[in-house]
Amino acid sequence: MAKGESGLKEHPKAPRHGKKGGKLLQHRHCQVCSKAIPISEEYCSDECNIEFSKLVKKRKGLVYIMYGMIVVIIVAMILTSI
Ligand SMILES: [Zn+2]
Repeated sequence: MAKGESGLKEHPKAPRHGKKGGKLLQHRHCQVCSKAIPISEEYCSDECNIEFSKLVKKRKGLVYIMYGMIVVIIVAMILTSI
């Protein structure tokens, strides 16, 4: 029962996945769901577009909160060190 499809013995760990992936066309990933999309697109769908803008808004809010906390901490440190 020898299934010799080809006499060639391929190396089991043949480096087929070259880092210079010539096969892959230039593409990017949807920022929301990470789907592969054409480089000219930002998102895979309108839903993801909306989702992303929501995320950005949330993130901006978080950044402000972080800044606020940092300021509070610095002020507290200054006050306690006096
Ligand atoms: Zn998407």
